[in-house]
Amino acid sequence: MSTASQPKRAIVIGSGFGGLAAAMRMLAAGLDVTVVERLPAPGGRASQITDQGYTWDLGPSLVTMPWCFDELFALLDRDFREEVELIGLDPFYRIDWPHDGTRIDFKGDVEEMQEELAKLSPHDAANYPAFLKASGLIHENAVLAAGRKAFENPLPFAKLLPTMLRLDAARSLSHFCAKYFDEPHIFQSMSFHSLYIGGDPYRVPAVYAALAYLQVADGVWYTKGGTYSIVQAMVRAIEGAGGRVRCSADVDEIIVRGGKAIGVRLADGEVLPAEVVVSDADPVRTRTRLLKGAPDRAPWRFRGSNNGMSCFLLYLGTDRQWPELLHHTLFVGDGYRKFINDVTKKRVLPETLSLYLHVPARTDPAMAPAGGDSLAVLLPVPNLASGDDWGAISDTWRDKVIDYLEHDAGLTGLRASIKVEHRMTPADFEQRYDADEGTAFSTEPVLTRSAYFRQPNKDRTVNGLYHVGAGAHPGAGVPGVLLGAEVAAGLVRRDLGIAT
Ligand SMILES: Cc1cc2nc3c(=O)[nH]c(=O)nc-3n(C[C@H](O)[C@H](O)[C@H](O)COP(=O)(O)OP(=O)(O)OC[C@H]3O[C@@H](n4cnc5c(N)ncnc54)[C@H](O)[C@@H]3O)c2cc1C
Repeated sequence: MSTASQPKRAIVIGSGFGGLAAAMRMLAAGLDVTVVERLPAPGGRASQITDQGYTWDLGPSLVTMPWCFDELFALLDRDFREEVELIGLDPFYRIDWPHDGTRIDFKGDVEEMQEELAKLSPHDAANYPAFLKASGLIHENAVLAAGRKAFENPLPFAKLLPTMLRLDAARSLSHFCAKYFDEPHIFQSMSFHSLYIGGDPYRVPAVYAALAYLQVADGVWYTKGGTYSIVQAMVRAIEGAGGRVRCSADVDEIIVRGGKAIGVRLADGEVLPAEVVVSDADPVRTRTRLLKGAPDRAPWRFRGSNNGMSCFLLYLGTDRQWPELLHHTLFVGDGYRKFINDVTKKRVLPETLSLYLHVPARTDPAMAPAGGDSLAVLLPVPNLASGDDWGAISDTWRDKVIDYLEHDAGLTGLRASIKVEHRMTPADFEQRYDADEGTAFSTEPVLTRSAYFRQPNKDRTVNGLYHVGAGAHPGAGVPGVLLGAEVAAGLVRRDLGIAT
């Protein structure tokens, strides 16, 4: 039992970016914080592997809105930019349509980007500044304003709706982009960003137009040593402030007495008492596994059908490089709309391939042996609701992806150049992270699962229980989970009566 003079104890379940950020914020508020992580190392989806001189970030590779980290580290008197080496990328990425030979390099400078777009459509190039202005207004008025707000009741959502309607942010992202762009390649290059967080551009609200804007406003960044260097810096900050990060500690139960969370029980039976429990675990699994199916006032929030898509990832260590690959390259296949619909809505394996490649050694040679590359190749695929047996089909899909890259995308000699490889399937997302249906991005970011309708940052049934991470408000993506941690920690402070 902690006494009035002792700091309140907080347990954070999961060491993803959301969990680590919540831990840092609660330490800054004077709580005694322990993060418990089921995996042997911290970071969650932002984990990293190294093998034979090759290093791969398993998940996030584009760092946007770095000021979120600046603010977070400053709370613990640290300078984020001294803790990690931030490197700006420009072009941000290359988008390549191998089947028709079109290429767009997405540039940070607005005029240079207009010149790039004008090669395909002078009309669309002329509309680009207006698109940025409109999506910038959405970013400021709908995303940042809403992302930093706790939707504890429907009122703030109702208040936000007129703003969203005025900014045309409530209709689909594809509808919003079509107002500015006619040329199909340009339309795709301005609307695909919601896929970064598992959102179908044809079904998510135009709120996500902000994702295209914010990279132009704040840049696209890489941190030397990979995104994992940020995880390491956060763990250093937590431990430096007296917190603990315990790995290989799988929480099996959030202990609830009299409607209040009073701690957690680990899979080995150890009980960790606490006054505050913050879950960065999957929202469905938090309810079904950790709360043992305890009822919630909004059970619809936890249906599996809300889960977003998954990914099939190959991590390839090669002994050669391809100059046409930038640090980030997207290969968009024929039948893009059908591809997205199959993967996100119909939940069937796609007939054509669209891939994202991360090639960090372009910027950071230490990520691969000299002359080689550590390629991370991401193919969006349906989550496990598709019924696919990845144990049986993973080899076939590995070969399909490599054939496409070698023969369609022009990476000649890829297969022969592979010296070491790893992969991740939807089944691995489920096993590693306890992700319901192996979702890569948690709850889909559609309007009916956003703000008040998403997993709230403070549980509406169990006192003392808070939620962060991709499944909680405001949603997936590194900036999203950092904002969610800010909201959750603010609610913890308010509920404990800690002055800001
Ligand atoms: C392949 C991929 C690429 C991405 N690329 C980008 C990108 O470039 N830029 C970007 O901004 N975002 C990107 N994202 C999204 C972003 O990475 C995620 O939204 C974000 O990192 C998720 O953070 P989180 O807080 O939800 O925690 P997670 O990373 O999901 O971590 C949750 C942690 O909780 C642990 N856990 C679960 N259950 C328990 C339990 N019972 N006991 C103990 N521990 C438990 C898990 O093991 C895990 O470590 C990408 C995601 C993926 C999958």
